[in-house]
Amino acid sequence: MGVQGSSGRYDVLVLGGGAAGLMCARVAGQRGRRVAVVEHMPEVGKKILISGGGRCNFTNLEVAPDRFLSANPHFAKSALKRYTQWDFISLVSDYGIAWHEKTLGQLFCDQSAQQIVDLLLRDCAEVGVEILTSAPVRDVTRAPEPNGGFAVRTESGTLRAPSLVVATGGPSIPKLGATAFAYDLARDFGLPLIEPRPALVPLTLQPADKALAAPLSGLAVDSAVTANGTTFREATLFTHRGVSGPAVLQASSYWQAADLHAGAHAGGRKRAAAAPADLRGLPVRFDLLPEVSDPDWLVAAKAARPRQQLQTVLGEVLPQRLAQRLAAQLADGAGADDRPLAEWPDRALRRIVQQLKDWQLVPAGTEGFAKAEVTVGGVDTAALDSRTMQARDVPGLYVIGEAVDVTGWLGGYNFQWAWSSGWAAGQAV
Ligand SMILES: Cc1cc2nc3c(=O)[nH]c(=O)nc-3n(C[C@H](O)[C@H](O)[C@H](O)COP(=O)(O)OP(=O)(O)OC[C@H]3O[C@@H](n4cnc5c(N)ncnc54)[C@H](O)[C@@H]3O)c2cc1C
Repeated sequence: MGVQGSSGRYDVLVLGGGAAGLMCARVAGQRGRRVAVVEHMPEVGKKILISGGGRCNFTNLEVAPDRFLSANPHFAKSALKRYTQWDFISLVSDYGIAWHEKTLGQLFCDQSAQQIVDLLLRDCAEVGVEILTSAPVRDVTRAPEPNGGFAVRTESGTLRAPSLVVATGGPSIPKLGATAFAYDLARDFGLPLIEPRPALVPLTLQPADKALAAPLSGLAVDSAVTANGTTFREATLFTHRGVSGPAVLQASSYWQAADLHAGAHAGGRKRAAAAPADLRGLPVRFDLLPEVSDPDWLVAAKAARPRQQLQTVLGEVLPQRLAQRLAAQLADGAGADDRPLAEWPDRALRRIVQQLKDWQLVPAGTEGFAKAEVTVGGVDTAALDSRTMQARDVPGLYVIGEAVDVTGWLGGYNFQWAWSSGWAAGQAV
C-alpha cells in the first residue's frame, strides 16, 4: 500500500505494525485521530501470528508489575493498571474469539493467532487507520519549534504528523522483520538506552557441562531454576548447545539482567554506552529434584531397598536417561554406578541429593537475538512519561512495546505490555 490517496498528513504516525503499534493505532483512531501505521514488512503482526505455537498466548491472568524486568520496576505500573489483562480478555471475548488457559494463567486462542491480528485490523479499518506495508522508513526528522511535528520519509512518499509513535519492537528474531530501528531513532532524538540484550533465550554451556547435556538433547525434566535470586518452577530442556525450556528461558532474562539491573535498586542504571557486562562466573542453579525436600531421601531409600542401584532410584523421579548419566557422573568413576545403594555411605547419598537440588551451571552465553523471544533493555524509561509513554524532552514523540526497557516473563506478559503501553499512548496522542 502506498502513501497516495492522502495528503501524507496525519494526526498520528505509528512506526511498526506489531502488537503495540496496532493497539495504539486502533485506540487513537477510535478517538477520532487520523492515523497511519508504517510497517516495513509486507504484512503486519508477524510475531503475533507465530506466537504461542500459532495460537498466541495473548495475556496472562496473573499480570502484575513484578512479572516485568526494567531498570525502573515501577514504570510499567501505570499502563498495566489502566489497560489490564481483563480489558484485553473482554476485547477478545467481545470479538467472539474462544480462548483457554493453558497453564500458569497463560491464555491462548482456541483456534488461531490470526484471530488476534484480524481483531486489531478490523478495529483499525473501522476507524479509518491507514496501514502502509512494505514501507521501510528512510529517515525521521522533526520540524523546528514552535510548530514541531515529524516527517517520516518512506520509499513511497513523506508522511507528516504532530505525533510520532515508535512501535518497532526489539531486535529479537531478525528473520521476522525485527530491527534495532527504535534504538537508532531514540539515539537520534537524544533518548538514553538501557543496554539491549537477548532474553527468554536458550543458554549455551561451557564445554564440560555441554558434554553432559548434549547427549541428553531433547529430554525435558521438571525443575526449579534460579538466576539472580529469582526462581522458576517449570521444565528444563536439554539441547545440543546447552539448556532451554520454559524454566531456563525465564531464568535467562534474570541471568542476562544480573549485572544490567544491578544498580536499579540503588537508583543506578547501566546505560548502553557502558562497557558490556562480563556475565561469566554468574551461575544458574538447577533444582532437579523439586519434589524432594528431605535431604535424607536417598538414605531412606537405601534403608528400604538396599539392593537397588542409584540410577534405579533416581529414575523414579528423573527421566531414565538423565538418571543414568547423573548416576555415572555423581559416582565419580567408571563402573561405580553399578553399586547397590547398600554400598554407598550415607554421607555420599546426602551429597548427591544436595548436588541434584543445587546443580550450578555457569552458562557460556545465550543463543543470541536470533533465538531470543524478547529483548531486555531498550529505551530508558527515565526518558518517558509512564502515563502517556511520551518522551519527556521531545514533545509528540512516544515509544511503546518492546522498544521500551520493560520486559515481561514468558507466558503472555510481553503481549500484555504491548497492549497496555499501546493503549496508554493511543489515549494520549
Ligand atoms: C517466536 C516468538 C514467540 C512469542 N510468543 C509470545 C507469546 O505467546 N506471548 C507473549 O506475550 N509474547 C510472545 N512473544 C513476544 C512478543 O511477540 C513481543 O513482545 C511483542 O510482539 C512486542 O510487540 P511490539 O509491538 O513492541 O513489537 P513487534 O510485535 O515486534 O512489532 C514491531 C513491528 O515493527 C516492524 N518494524 C521493525 N523495524 C521497522 C522499521 N524500521 N520500519 C517499519 N517497521 C518496522 C516489525 O516488522 C514489526 O511488525 C513472542 C516472541 C517471539 C519472537
